[in-house]
Amino acid sequence: MLPILVFLACKEDTENTNEDLKDSIQEKIDSTEAIYNDESYQEALSLQRKIQNSVSADIETVPTPALEGDDAADDPAIWIHPADPAMSTVIGTNKKSGLYVYDLEGKELYGYQIGKVNNVDVRYNFKIGNELVDLVACSNRTLNGLTIMKINRETRALEEILIREIKIDTTELNDVYGFCFYQSKQSDKLFAFINGKNGNIQQWEVFAAKDSKVDVKLVRKFNVNSQPEGMVADDENALLYVGEEGHGLWKFDAEPSGNDDRELIFHVDSIQDAVRDIEGVSIYYAAEGEGYIIVSSQGNFAYLIFDRKTGKYVGSFKVIEDQIDGIEETDGLDVINIPMGDKFPNGFFIAQDGFNNDKGKPNLQNFKLVAWEKIAQAFEPNLIIDNSYKAYSNK
Ligand code: CA
Ligand code: CA
Ligand code: CA
Ligand code: CA
Ligand code: CA
Repeated sequence: MLPILVFLACKEDTENTNEDLKDSIQEKIDSTEAIYNDESYQEALSLQRKIQNSVSADIETVPTPALEGDDAADDPAIWIHPADPAMSTVIGTNKKSGLYVYDLEGKELYGYQIGKVNNVDVRYNFKIGNELVDLVACSNRTLNGLTIMKINRETRALEEILIREIKIDTTELNDVYGFCFYQSKQSDKLFAFINGKNGNIQQWEVFAAKDSKVDVKLVRKFNVNSQPEGMVADDENALLYVGEEGHGLWKFDAEPSGNDDRELIFHVDSIQDAVRDIEGVSIYYAAEGEGYIIVSSQGNFAYLIFDRKTGKYVGSFKVIEDQIDGIEETDGLDVINIPMGDKFPNGFFIAQDGFNNDKGKPNLQNFKLVAWEKIAQAFEPNLIIDNSYKAYSNK
């Protein structure tokens, strides 16, 4: 596909360029069609049929631009607008090209071609001088590093805020992969966790630098035995959850003083509805320390739910076709409990769809949003619906 890209870059005639783009998208769509007949796809689909609790998507984002390869969308993060929840956005990674900002109707607002970014996360009220800013950051495989940007609360656009390019020693993290933020209640400091395919995990402190910029410094290193990716921090409980793709989900101390001690939340073979890889992980917050840890079980196109307080397995669900096609082979996911406009009075769950199609026709990958109450009510007994608890102060 690379020659086409070079060709595109040199072209002056936009009409022909559009033709080339259409050709390459068609090529991708044709290859997706072939994948639908693939044995592993069919196997995952048959395993998905065993999952009982099912819901369907309410909104899908526009397809992710993909000029090469067949796998582009990866991980979403939800940003809560400080004044009007309906103006909140979803910031998604395109692992071939950069970060994309979508509104809650799924429309693309902005795109930033900043490299091969993989996982993305958001935190609020980072103090720079007298200003409180919201930050979005992602692992960036083009740099083998970390990209941090500021979210403009007026325009919802992303802006540069790093004082320097952050590259990570390739002998330590051979290929940066998973990423999440951790906002410490103990020190009020912000940290970035980043892992590499070699299993190493690094914790970096994010701090305000001169000229209203931010910088980072390495504060801790630890590891898991095989390839990790999805991570999420529970800010309230100072915990870090790490998905080890072929193994299961681990719980670590998220504080920089934490040691290597870890607890296994689940092994992929210990739960019938879990099929490797273990991918995206996020937290549904509710009052009194309640809530859930939600994990993508990629091998059977399903999601696993664990009790946030006890770590106990609650059950699984799947997202199947109704008005919008179902979700298959999810990498990253996220969830929010508070009201997010008229469509989502109880927040929503969002996941990457590895096989997006529109009216049965294969299309490029995207993200799909599901109203939280539908998921909660698909379980018996129902899951918690707490739309008033605010885990993040964002004003
Ligand atoms: Ca994320
Ligand atoms: Ca992965
Ligand atoms: Ca991924
Ligand atoms: Ca789909
Ligand atoms: Ca679709």
